[in-house]
Amino acid sequence: MIGLGIESTAHTFSCAIMEKNGKKGKILSDVRKIYRPPGGEGIHPREASRHHIENSSSVLSQCLQESKIKINDLDIISYAAGPGLGPCLRVGAVVARSLSSYYKIPIYPVNHAIGHIELGKLLTGAKNPLVLLVSGGHTMILAFLNKQWRVFGETLDITLGQLLDQFGRSIGFASPCGREIENLANTSSTYTTLPYSVKGNDVSFSGLLSATKSVVSNNKADACFSLQETAFAMISETVERALSFTEKKELLIVGGVAANKRLSEMLKDVCKRHGCKFFVTPLKFSGDCGSQICWTGLLENQVKKGASLEKTFVTQSWRLDSVVVNY
Ligand code: AMP
Ligand code: MG
Repeated sequence: MIGLGIESTAHTFSCAIMEKNGKKGKILSDVRKIYRPPGGEGIHPREASRHHIENSSSVLSQCLQESKIKINDLDIISYAAGPGLGPCLRVGAVVARSLSSYYKIPIYPVNHAIGHIELGKLLTGAKNPLVLLVSGGHTMILAFLNKQWRVFGETLDITLGQLLDQFGRSIGFASPCGREIENLANTSSTYTTLPYSVKGNDVSFSGLLSATKSVVSNNKADACFSLQETAFAMISETVERALSFTEKKELLIVGGVAANKRLSEMLKDVCKRHGCKFFVTPLKFSGDCGSQICWTGLLENQVKKGASLEKTFVTQSWRLDSVVVNY
C-alpha cells in the first residue's frame, strides 16, 4: 500500500510518500518547505498560506521524484485536516482534493496531532506509551484507552513551543526559536528564580513568559537557561504524576520541542525512577512533516474507506481526544 501525505497546518508545507507492508512502514520521500517570518514576528496566517501555495507544486514534484513513485501508483492520499491555521490548512486540503478527484484516489482527512503520535510510535517502536506531545500547537500528556487518546495534563494557556518562540522573538530571534534558545541556554548555568506554575496536572506558561522577559536585560543566556529549567521541570513533574497514575512502562516524546536535549535529559531521569523505557522521535521527524500524515492515513485505510469529497473539511480546533481510533 502506497500513500501520499500532505502537511500544511502552520509553518511547514510538506509532502511525503510511504509504503506500508503489514505493520511495517517505510518513508520513500519526505520533502518540506518552511515559512520563516521576519525576525521578531510570529506566523502570519495569510503570508504562511501564500508561502504554501507558492511552494506546493515544487514540493509535490520533488517528493514524487525522490520516491520514484508515479501519481497513478498511489493507493491513498491523506492531508492534515486540523488542528491548525485555517488559511494554511486549506492549501493542503485543496491540493489533496484536486489530486484525489482528478486521479480518482481515495482521500483521508487526518488529525495532525495524531499524526505526530503515530509516526513517533512507528519510528521508535514504542507500543503502548504515555505520550508527551510538545510542539508549536500542543502541550499535552496522553495515554490511549478504549479507542481514544485521553488527556492526563495539558497547558492552560500558551504551548511550550509558543513559550519558547515568543520569548525568542522578544530577544530578536526569528521564529521558530527553540533551537537557538537551547544553544544559548547551553552556555549558562546561572539559575534565576522564575514562576513555576503547575495546577492539578496542568501547566500554565504565560506568567513564566512575562517574568522571563523582565529578567532578560541582566543576561540573555542566563534567561534562556532559567526559562528552560523552569518550563521543563514543570513538564517533568506532570509527566511523572501521569506515569505514577497510569503505570505505563513507556514514555514517548513527540512534537517539535522533542528535539531539545535538556528536556530529554530531565525526562530520562523521571523514567529511571519509574522503571520506564524512554523513547523520543528522531530529530528529523519530530517537527511537522508529511510522513506523520501519510502514515496515519495508511493506518486509517486498514479500517475505513476514503472520505467523500464533500466531507473533506478542515477544522481549525480539532482536538485529538475527540477522534475515535479504530485501527
Ligand atoms: P512543530 O509545531 O511540531 O513543528 O514544532 C515546532 C516547535 O518546536 C517550535 O515552537 C520550535 O521552537 C520548537 N523546537 C524546535 N527545535 C527545538 C529545540 N531544539 N528545543 C526546543 N524547541 C524546539
Ligand atoms: Mg505539529
